[in-house]
Amino acid sequence: MSYRLVIMGPQGSGKGTQAALLADRLGVPTISTGDLFRAHMAAQDDLGELARSYTSRGELVPDEVTNAMVRRRLAEPDVADGFILDGYPRNCFQLDELDDILADLGTRLDGVVELTAERDELMARMKHRAEIEHREDDTDEAIARRLDIYDEQTAPLTASYGARGLLVTVDGIGEIDEVAERVARAVTGVRN
Ligand code: AMP
Repeated sequence: MSYRLVIMGPQGSGKGTQAALLADRLGVPTISTGDLFRAHMAAQDDLGELARSYTSRGELVPDEVTNAMVRRRLAEPDVADGFILDGYPRNCFQLDELDDILADLGTRLDGVVELTAERDELMARMKHRAEIEHREDDTDEAIARRLDIYDEQTAPLTASYGARGLLVTVDGIGEIDEVAERVARAVTGVRN
């Protein structure tokens, strides 16, 4: 049995937390593009410096850079039997690239989980996270910009995945464990 999944959701929807819980449950690694960029930023390498100039403003890192990083990561042996992609794809070009990468690897997605939450709730959660985590891209402007980009470029991807019968939408409001149960039930439902 393999699980090749994407988890989507706006900032503050609990996407990262739910991706990690689902990964534990299914026994597959998560691939978080945000975490990969943060690792490069911490290492202060060229990719990290480039990424910082975009992430600090809440903008997307250019597709060529992001796609190449994901292509390299998906070729690694630990994700050969399954993965949860957290934060990728974020626009239609990345969606197409992901299809190409997986086709080149002789495989394809099994499902896509979309976590939903109202914008007011998301802003409140993000401000709370900013106070606790002090992430350098959690300024009010960057938070608002990320939510706009999600609405304009990322949320529309659900139509493509929906048309392929891959999409399940899960209400992201509630206790972490409760949402995790909903996600797990939804994933069991979408599997081929
Ligand atoms: P996240 O941890 O998912 O909120 O990502 C943090 C930041 O990393 C985003 O605001 C973007 O600047 C960058 N990033 C993460 N994933 C992508 C992606 N798929 N495409 C472009 N930029 C990304």
